[in-house]
Amino acid sequence: MSENTQKNPAYKGKNAWKVYGDSNRLDDVYAFVDGYIDFLNHCKTERETVAFCEKTLRAHGFGDDPKGKRYLKTLRGKCLFAFRKGTEPMSSGISLVAAHADCPRLDFKQHPFVEEAGFAQGKTHYYGGLRKYQWLSRPLALHGVICRDDGSTVPVCIGEEPGDPLFTIADLLPHLAHDQVTKSIKDAFEGEKLNVILGNRPKDEPEDAKDKAETPVKQAILELLQKKYGVIEEDFITAEIEVVPAGRAGYVGFDRSLVGGYGQDDRICVYTALMALCEAGDSAAKNMALMVWDKEEIGSEGATGASSRFISYCFEDVTRAHEPETPVGHVFLATQALSADVTAGMDPDYQETHEKHNSANLGFGPCFEKYTGSGGKYSASEAHAEYYASVRGVFNRKAIPWQAGELGRVDHGGGGTVALFLAAYGMNVVDCGPALLAMHSPFELSSVVDIYACFEAYRAFYEA
Ligand code: MN
Ligand code: MN
Repeated sequence: MSENTQKNPAYKGKNAWKVYGDSNRLDDVYAFVDGYIDFLNHCKTERETVAFCEKTLRAHGFGDDPKGKRYLKTLRGKCLFAFRKGTEPMSSGISLVAAHADCPRLDFKQHPFVEEAGFAQGKTHYYGGLRKYQWLSRPLALHGVICRDDGSTVPVCIGEEPGDPLFTIADLLPHLAHDQVTKSIKDAFEGEKLNVILGNRPKDEPEDAKDKAETPVKQAILELLQKKYGVIEEDFITAEIEVVPAGRAGYVGFDRSLVGGYGQDDRICVYTALMALCEAGDSAAKNMALMVWDKEEIGSEGATGASSRFISYCFEDVTRAHEPETPVGHVFLATQALSADVTAGMDPDYQETHEKHNSANLGFGPCFEKYTGSGGKYSASEAHAEYYASVRGVFNRKAIPWQAGELGRVDHGGGGTVALFLAAYGMNVVDCGPALLAMHSPFELSSVVDIYACFEAYRAFYEA
């Protein structure tokens, strides 16, 4: 007879504030979330995030030898695999948590510099699913790299330190928006108008100079960049400059119950899983791994995205190092994974977009999604019930708050995660991550207690 016979048969989710309040752990929760906010402030690109993860892992004893008990490998500075050898054989598989470090943003085009009407502007191509109007008339910063043809690289981070200049995209004033406001949002905001203001001061030249610059503001800025950074316009053809929201993440609300900041999809899972891997107990039996991917927001293609073979090379490396007689395919088939990504939380102003019985709520712990996709679960990798139940059991035995939901009303939305790329190897995988409000916006909201509950959940998964 199952112990279920002793329980109230009705299901009720647990509010994580009550869980941590009743057990007097809110000080631990806030100490952890202080660290998370600091992480968000330092990691606004996939490169910065992977660099942070690598530094943290090395400080926790991870190194470059796949034979070691703690191993890490990065690719192009944009994705990362970290591994901890447990006492179980490789043929028992790996407990894997996979998250992504890339976020919606605006990327400089290859020829970014233009001058129109006396303004130097930076042309951009947006990256990922963003709502264009949210990026207008707000402070922006530039992060990334400029690569010269001699192999040298100039790192860029402008707009974050006090005293730095800011950047912005000027929105249309309401007085002149009479035509625009009658359009649908899709037509009202054009991708080609997402041009970043770079400056307005023309090059200082004598009136009667012979070959005066045709674009004197752009010319002045190029000369400034040449002087300050040693780069020329051609170097920007081979640059990766990401335009991201400037400013800091922080607590939101009188009660400081929320965290607001850019890039929480999916750096909230990167941080909580990273800390879980670093802090999982040394006596843990499971082989553990963390995968941090890039390119999730644009379909996971590319060498550093989830559809690349990087993860299989990493699995091969650690299998060959610890148990060369075991085929890597067996390790994949025995592996159990959490696809750690965020989901949409019930939005108080748009409740009609959710199905309230199956939506996630902020403050109730990480949310399982058995399937993602849209239009009849299309493009979803659906978790197997037996595996899903086993993870639920792990969380229950540690009294970690969790919930279950799906993304939006049937036929009214949907989305995908990296789960299907993991499932392609035959491993068990289920989506599990916190709910956000205003996902993909420049200021996403998460719940303080969900952040900590995710950390606890991923650590319990590793230690199970
Ligand atoms: Mn995501
Ligand atoms: Mn996303």
